Amino acid sequence: MKIKFLGAAGTVTGSSYALTSDSGQSILIDLGMFQGTEEIEKLNYLRYDYDCSKLSGIILTHAHLDHCGRLPIAIKNGFRGKIWLTAPTYDLTALSLLDTAKIAIKDDRPILFNEKQVFKTISRFAIVKYHQKFKIGNFEITFFDAGHLLGSASVLVEDTKSNSKIKKVVFSGDLGNSPDSLLMPLEFIKDADVVVMESTYGDKLHPKSDPSEELEREIIEIVKTGGTLLIPAFALDRTQKVLHLIKHLKAEGKIPYELPVYLDGPMAQKAIDIYLKYFDFFNYNFQSELSKEPPFYFPGLKVVMRYEESIAIRTSQETKIIIAGSGMMNGGRIVAHAAAFLGDSKNRIFLVGYQGEETLGREILDGASQVIIDEETIFIKAHVSHTESMSSHADQGQLIDWLSNIKGVSKVILTHGEDEQRRVLADKIAETLSINEVFLPNLNQEIEI
Ligand SMILES: [Zn+2]
Repeated sequence: MKIKFLGAAGTVTGSSYALTSDSGQSILIDLGMFQGTEEIEKLNYLRYDYDCSKLSGIILTHAHLDHCGRLPIAIKNGFRGKIWLTAPTYDLTALSLLDTAKIAIKDDRPILFNEKQVFKTISRFAIVKYHQKFKIGNFEITFFDAGHLLGSASVLVEDTKSNSKIKKVVFSGDLGNSPDSLLMPLEFIKDADVVVMESTYGDKLHPKSDPSEELEREIIEIVKTGGTLLIPAFALDRTQKVLHLIKHLKAEGKIPYELPVYLDGPMAQKAIDIYLKYFDFFNYNFQSELSKEPPFYFPGLKVVMRYEESIAIRTSQETKIIIAGSGMMNGGRIVAHAAAFLGDSKNRIFLVGYQGEETLGREILDGASQVIIDEETIFIKAHVSHTESMSSHADQGQLIDWLSNIKGVSKVILTHGEDEQRRVLADKIAETLSINEVFLPNLNQEIEI
């Protein structure tokens, strides 16, 4: 078998791998967008280095844009088959791709695809269940819960007609940071010959701090100063986790019951509606909560849909929390809130996710004393805090643990990580597991496995 690495090879984003069987049949695993610095994002506009008309099918591991964000390009380039995914991934991907097509028009950037092309892509979606084997030609495929995002999957692909020793290949997708407050734990896969594994946090262990306690501290402080607490958060996953934590803090009397919390953005609301459709995909604790009461709603929560309302909350003097996207502040409604609130020392900003290079979030996290927003200089007087305890990615220990549970692995291929993270993880694997070969592919490289 052969694998071609069409993305996430030396970068964290742009996941896309083409697997070709000995009999010459090909499938694609993910077709994600490159995201991050301007230089990385330029890769989206290069010619896709694969003949998509030769693909028998596409497998989508989950709905994050760095895994699904270039799917319409496959259709544009002659792909005629189905795109296989779980039911929540279906809904969340449709939401993300449509949102991306809309933003592209607003931002005046070169457009990767339009709404019509998104609808064409969605028409190819085919839903599969975890553990239910299905076939694409001679490939037999099984999805396992990856515990990373609602509906996320790791994928086992077996070449049933292989005439070499290599028959089973696992693609990890993004692996979750289990146990998760909402999701089922990530699942282990019994055996495989080759594993293609993500390495986002290949060089790190997550801090063991409690996100609920950290959030409570932030909220207590904002109540003391009477200011506004900004929480930049992605509409998928992080927003739901933050709302769930606030709900519990209020219910337990740890923060004022009526404190206003603005959830600013229609995308987050749409994502919540999708989350509430998929009871079975949550862990048992959360299912039991879900069967009794709404898990993301509480007194004081105000969902802001229209842009005019978003402007109005900036002028109100009340003590409040504003949750808005994007999570790295490189766009979305949070940017204007940052301009309005960061210049005042009674306000705070709590960064609850990864802040990529060259983003406003990273500048603030790195302690900039001033930032430029919409050509206006903002002197940062607000208090800045940060936590990595809400990460939805496995850390080094969890990656090694997941890998060590797969029997018979002769080769590991590390993707979805920067070179430094991949190298550190490769060393750790060589040190702790008896696997013959750890390989770090380059972009557009094809190898025989
Ligand atoms: Zn992801």
